[in-house]
Amino acid sequence: MVYHKKSKLNKVLNEARLQKHSIGLVPTMGALHSGHLSLVEESLKENTLTVVSIFVNPTQFDNSNDLKKYPRTLNEDIALLHTVSTNIFVYAPEPTDLYGNTIQSKNYHFGSLEKTMEGAHRHGHFDGVGTVLNLLFRALKPNRAYFGKKDFQQLQIVKKLVKLEKLPIAIVGCPIVREDNGLAKSSRNKRLTETQRKEAALLSQCLLDAKNHFDTLSIPKIKKKVQAHFINHEHLVLEYFEIANEETLQPAMRKMKTNNYRAFIAAFAGKVRLIDNMALNS
Ligand code: AMP
Repeated sequence: MVYHKKSKLNKVLNEARLQKHSIGLVPTMGALHSGHLSLVEESLKENTLTVVSIFVNPTQFDNSNDLKKYPRTLNEDIALLHTVSTNIFVYAPEPTDLYGNTIQSKNYHFGSLEKTMEGAHRHGHFDGVGTVLNLLFRALKPNRAYFGKKDFQQLQIVKKLVKLEKLPIAIVGCPIVREDNGLAKSSRNKRLTETQRKEAALLSQCLLDAKNHFDTLSIPKIKKKVQAHFINHEHLVLEYFEIANEETLQPAMRKMKTNNYRAFIAAFAGKVRLIDNMALNS
């Protein structure tokens, strides 16, 4: 069932709440793939009712071309969801149904979480993400919401968002789903040529390399090693490679036994920006 208006969907959800159903929400921007489906499957396991939102959120794009080029494939998305279950409620609104007439971001203070990596390289991105999720959470009032570790920084921001907004929603983080060559599944992969798709496996190879050397090499040495892979690369341009504390997302220069660390990478294949990350010692 596809709903374009939150008022119509809420008639169903309100009734479900009265019947003590638990509601799981999987927020997406569409162009669905098996990474998204893994979140949906988790929600179907843990809740009696699952809503998948499909909405390309304009306020989280700092690059208008990226927003314009973002794939929009609603009919295919619905067909793919039906391969998992026909008992999924899809919410695919127009911007005004969520935002009203003023489509703009709130100004959030996510502290140190927003200062590095995606926050540093995509101006206003997390304000846009926080704004749309706050609107979605308040509109649909799910018990649980599902996010991929593929966007690990976003996952930490969302956990902070529900605290800041005092929303009684459990945030569930799900594992990263990858292509056979290691490339993290992403809607943006649809824009890659066959050659780019093969070459983009370098991102996850670098993360794996960092993981394999984490015990034996210093963090600066690991970073240099990864950067060297990109220096003379013909087609891939590294934007950042960072090793950070998993909780605070602060870049680390040396390792402390008590902390968990993660490697984060962002690179361009032509005009397509790709991100990935991997746990190093947990
Ligand atoms: P998006 O449509 O890109 O905004 O993604 C919607 C949700 O799916 C986010 O929580 C993402 O982290 C998650 N997601 C996207 N790609 C993957 C993947 N390869 N593995 C797991 N989760 C993913």
